[in-house]
Amino acid sequence: MNILILGGGGREHALAWAVMQNPKCDKLIVAPGNAGIAQIAECASLDVEDGGAVAEFAGENAIDLVIVGPEAPLAAGVADRLREAGVLVFGPSKEAARLEASKSFTKEICDAAKAPTAGYGHFTDAESAKAHVRAQGAPIVVKADGLAAGKGVIIAETVAQAEDAIDDMFGGAFGGAGAEVVIEEFMTGEEASYFVLVDGEDVLPIGTAQDHKRVGEGDTGPNTGGMGAYSPAPVLSDEVAQRALDEIVKPTMAEMARRGTPYQGVLYVGLMIENGAPRLVEYNVRFGDPECQVLMMRLGGQVLDLLHACAEGRLSEARVTWADDHAMTVVMAAEGYPGAYEKGTVISGLESLPEDSFTQMFHAGTAEKDGKIVATGGRVLNATARGATLAEAQARAYALVDAVDWPQGFCRRDIGWRAL
Ligand code: ATP
Repeated sequence: MNILILGGGGREHALAWAVMQNPKCDKLIVAPGNAGIAQIAECASLDVEDGGAVAEFAGENAIDLVIVGPEAPLAAGVADRLREAGVLVFGPSKEAARLEASKSFTKEICDAAKAPTAGYGHFTDAESAKAHVRAQGAPIVVKADGLAAGKGVIIAETVAQAEDAIDDMFGGAFGGAGAEVVIEEFMTGEEASYFVLVDGEDVLPIGTAQDHKRVGEGDTGPNTGGMGAYSPAPVLSDEVAQRALDEIVKPTMAEMARRGTPYQGVLYVGLMIENGAPRLVEYNVRFGDPECQVLMMRLGGQVLDLLHACAEGRLSEARVTWADDHAMTVVMAAEGYPGAYEKGTVISGLESLPEDSFTQMFHAGTAEKDGKIVATGGRVLNATARGATLAEAQARAYALVDAVDWPQGFCRRDIGWRAL
C-alpha cells in the first residue's frame, strides 16, 4: 500500500513509525513532515488544509490511504474532498469534525443521546451568559464555543472571574471562536483519555492514556499542548472503560449516524471519572499529541491494519492484539515554552540514540539545517519508551532524554507521577 500521512508533529512521527513496521506499507509520504520523519519516510511540501491540492497529490502518487493527523484539515473538509475524489481516507467529514470544532454541538449530541456530561448553557450574548453564571454560582467553567487551541477554557473560581471571562470572549479575545459561549458545571474527579476507532457504525477501543498539560512539575504553572503522557491510564479500568463505551461513545455515535453524519476516524474521548462513573469532558476528532506517541509505541505495526479497516468500514472484523505493557513519552521543549522561546538552537546526540522497538525519539518541532538538527517549535522532541511496567518505561524514556545534548531545552522530570 502507498500511504500519505498529513501533519508534521510528534503525533505524525509516531504514526509514520508504526505504519512503517507493517509489511503491507510499500511507500510512505508525510506532508509536511519534520526532520525526524524525513529519516524514515519521504516528506512532501503540501498545503494540508487545501483538500483539492491533497486529492490531486494523492492521485499523482497512487496513494491507497490518506491518514489525517491534525484537526485543522478535518475542520476544513479535507476528508470530504478526498472521498469525493474517490481516495480512501482515515478521518471524519467536516460535519462530523464539529464534535471538536463546536462545543455546543457536542453538548447537543450528548443531550440527544442522553450521554453523561457536565450540565451547561449555550449563549450568544454576554448578559444572558452572566445571568446564568449568577444563578449557578462558582466554581464554573466558561468556554469559547469554537476552536481556540486549548486556550478558550476558563475555570472560574468566582462569579466575578466568570463574568470577566464572558466579557473577554464576547469582546473578541478568541476571535470567531468566542462569538458563542458555553457555560458548564464544574466537574470534579480524575481526567483520562480513551481512544476509540469508529467506522460510522462499529466502534473499536484502541487504548487509554493520561497526559500532563501543565508546564511545571507537580502539574503546576501555565497550560501547554502537553508535556508528557503514559498508557494505559490506571483510572480507566476495564469496567470504567466499558461504561464509557456503552453510556457515552456508542449512543453519541449512533446519534451522529441517525443525523446522516456518521463519524469515521479516531475519536479522542476526554473523560472525567469520579467514583467509577465516567462523564464526557470533550471529544477530539484526531489522536492527541503526545498521547498518540504512547499508543503507537504499544500498538506498533498493526495500526495500519486497524486504520485501514476503519477507513473501509470493516471494523466489525478487526481485532487489536494487546501486549500487557506500558508506555511513556516525555516532551522536550524549548526553554521559555509555553511563553516566548528561541528558535534555531542546535540539538546534538540524536544520531547515536539507542532506538529499537522499546525506545524511540519522535520529533515534533525540528528541521535539518546545514547537516544539523535544529529546534523550530516550542515542543520539539518526544522521548518515548515502553516496558513491562510503567516504571521501566519511565526509566527508558528518561535515559533517552539524557542522551540528548540540547542546552536550550527542558523537560518535566515527573511524568507519570500520579500513576507511579
Ligand atoms: P484542549 O484542546 O486543551 O483539550 P479544549 O479547548 O478542547 O482543550 P476542553 O477539553 O473542553 O477544552 O477543556 C480543557 C480542560 O479544562 C479539560 O481538559 C479539563 O481539565 C478542564 N475542564 C473543561 N471542562 C470542565 C468541566 N466542566 N469541569 C471541570 N474541568 C473542566
